[in-house]
Amino acid sequence: MIEQRPTRDVAAPWIIEGGQPVVGREGGGRLPAVRDGIARHARARAEAATADDAAIDAALARLHDAAYLTTLDGITSDVPVLMPELAAPGMEADVPVCAGLVQTAREGVRAAITAAARVADGAPFAYAVSRPPGHHAGPAWFGGYCYLNTAGAAALTLLDHGVATVGILDLDLHYPNGTSAVVASHERIHLCSLHASPVANAPDGRAVPHSEREALIGFEDVPSEDEYVTAVVDAGRRLAASVDAVVVSLGYDTVAGDPHGDWDLPPATFRRIGAALAATGLPLCVVQEGGYEVSSLADCSHAFVTGLLEGPSADHEPAADRPTGATR
Ligand SMILES: [Zn+2]
Repeated sequence: MIEQRPTRDVAAPWIIEGGQPVVGREGGGRLPAVRDGIARHARARAEAATADDAAIDAALARLHDAAYLTTLDGITSDVPVLMPELAAPGMEADVPVCAGLVQTAREGVRAAITAAARVADGAPFAYAVSRPPGHHAGPAWFGGYCYLNTAGAAALTLLDHGVATVGILDLDLHYPNGTSAVVASHERIHLCSLHASPVANAPDGRAVPHSEREALIGFEDVPSEDEYVTAVVDAGRRLAASVDAVVVSLGYDTVAGDPHGDWDLPPATFRRIGAALAATGLPLCVVQEGGYEVSSLADCSHAFVTGLLEGPSADHEPAADRPTGATR
């Protein structure tokens, strides 16, 4: 018999992307799939990204160097070009940039800021369906499909709205070298990353924390589903003890078949992850990072939101670990 579990009495809002043209090799088909998976949950609802340009500029000015932003703003051509001078230190340029990509990245930041403001206003969860990803974008560099740091913008928005301390929990397959660098100087932001190790986006393959507020959990071997979920549960518990809200940098490139990864988590794992995060009782603002196996993305996002709203399925998690429902 399936036990009836209490659920949160509020719908999970989700945020639409900004309607920008599909540009960039990271793939414009990703977000419709993520959005469709969320929308399959009866209690999800869509809201427009409404943060204004001034809010985007204010957040970006505190995350990125002025000269970097000026250079991006000065790109007027839609012919994609590599800019090795704007690659991460010690790294080669791996993705091109063009005017449309910069505009699309700004729309991703708009979605992240809107979602964070929604959480600051009292929503327990908001999911910014944002693209391109942002966690490899550093103070003065872009790479790995990332141009502007959306997770950092969400975290600053929460702080600006009165949240005392914010944790960024990065669950993408890849180490968030950009987020690590952009939040290093923001003392009320903590970062915890679970990722494959060695990392592809550091010159020697080794991630080094930028501050004592950064916790790194690198998996040398492909983890089993149980090992990974246990690590997420532990990270959530640590964050619950130290911060007041969480920005989840959520990647789906840990899933079997992802063209940029070699892990083999089934999409259903994200129900357990969503449930574990909800069980922290912390307000959660999700921003979309990677995940490139388009045929799996709707199942991943649907599972994640189902876990957030309903807890784990009956055949997972010992009873003691089950969320007990709304706590705020
Ligand atoms: Zn990734």
